[in-house]
Amino acid sequence: MIIGGRVTAALCPTALARLTEGRRVVLVTGTNGKTTTSYLVAAALRTMAPVAHNDTGANMADGALAAVMHDRHSPLVVLETDELHLSGIAAATRPEIVVALNLSRDQLDRVREVRGTAAALAAVGAEHEGATMVANSDDPLLVWALVGRPGRTIWLAGGGRWAGDAIGCPGCGALLSRSPDGPRWQCSCGLRRPTPDWAIHQGGLLSPHGFRRLRMRLPGRFNATNALAAVAVAAEMGVDVGRAVSAVEQVTEIGGRYRIVTVGRRRVRLLLAKNPAGWAETIPILGPSSAVVVAINAREADGRDVSWLWDVPFEDLRGRYVAAVGDRAADLGVRLSYACVPHETVLDPLTALAGSPEGDVDVVADYTSFRALIRRLDDLPVSPR
Ligand SMILES: [Zn+2]
Repeated sequence: MIIGGRVTAALCPTALARLTEGRRVVLVTGTNGKTTTSYLVAAALRTMAPVAHNDTGANMADGALAAVMHDRHSPLVVLETDELHLSGIAAATRPEIVVALNLSRDQLDRVREVRGTAAALAAVGAEHEGATMVANSDDPLLVWALVGRPGRTIWLAGGGRWAGDAIGCPGCGALLSRSPDGPRWQCSCGLRRPTPDWAIHQGGLLSPHGFRRLRMRLPGRFNATNALAAVAVAAEMGVDVGRAVSAVEQVTEIGGRYRIVTVGRRRVRLLLAKNPAGWAETIPILGPSSAVVVAINAREADGRDVSWLWDVPFEDLRGRYVAAVGDRAADLGVRLSYACVPHETVLDPLTALAGSPEGDVDVVADYTSFRALIRRLDDLPVSPR
């Protein structure tokens, strides 16, 4: 399907524009969470009308085109969009809403400095005056990029855990001051966290529509934040908030992520984390006593630079059974050794699973090792639960 998209894009550069004309388009971008959030947005919008969605995670222009070619008639279109392709895809699709989740370091060898990405997002925000931006007020880079833009911006507050790339003010470089008890931040230059329109609050969503309890089946605070974005988008597009909340609550897996499979006497949960920010969100949701298999391939699609492994607090895995697997198991093993985490180093993930203790096992994989593992587990004589 992506190859079809690529060929069509080469033959007709305006195809994406033609195939989205007259359809209501939502773009979802950011370093982490865009796949999950686009699934949740699609789930919430389907309560209103059929949705075309690039649900394979192919998030560049050819993947977007493949999705709208495959489904030419659904009136709503949700496109997960790579940060570096946002400008081109927005120009072609004239989105009604652009969701900007967060900006952090990812794939150092492939992506420009995160500030460059923020500047590109700022340009999209300025050029598409008619588009509503739905953006995270907890991320100073996003605020710097979008505050004061022409057009409507809906600010979200989910409480980001990781601020490693944005300790200095993106506007002037001064140190940001943060409230010790909460998520508010500000700078002496005047840049500050906008008042959020939608926020995670006491186990629910607080918005201009009032308070709604939220009981997600997907784990983790970050998935509640992704749901917050999805419900805000759906409400903005005319979906009843209660229906949108019910729809996102029912989602249990995202293209295989969070899937639970049985391998022998092991209950194996599949998680994906591909950078320090993703790991910061993943460590808190690991099972309390589960073994952890970490899979790192660092192939082209992952980014070949593995230096980010040194920014992950692997020290937090001490006391668990840990296995390092994948093409770069040796690099990961060195990192784990420095973190004083005893571990097995095994190249093959299924061998590692077979050698791990019985009971709960969390597999945390980067993108290509995750895809490969899903395919191989699908081939095993086991049944997903
Ligand atoms: Zn400043």
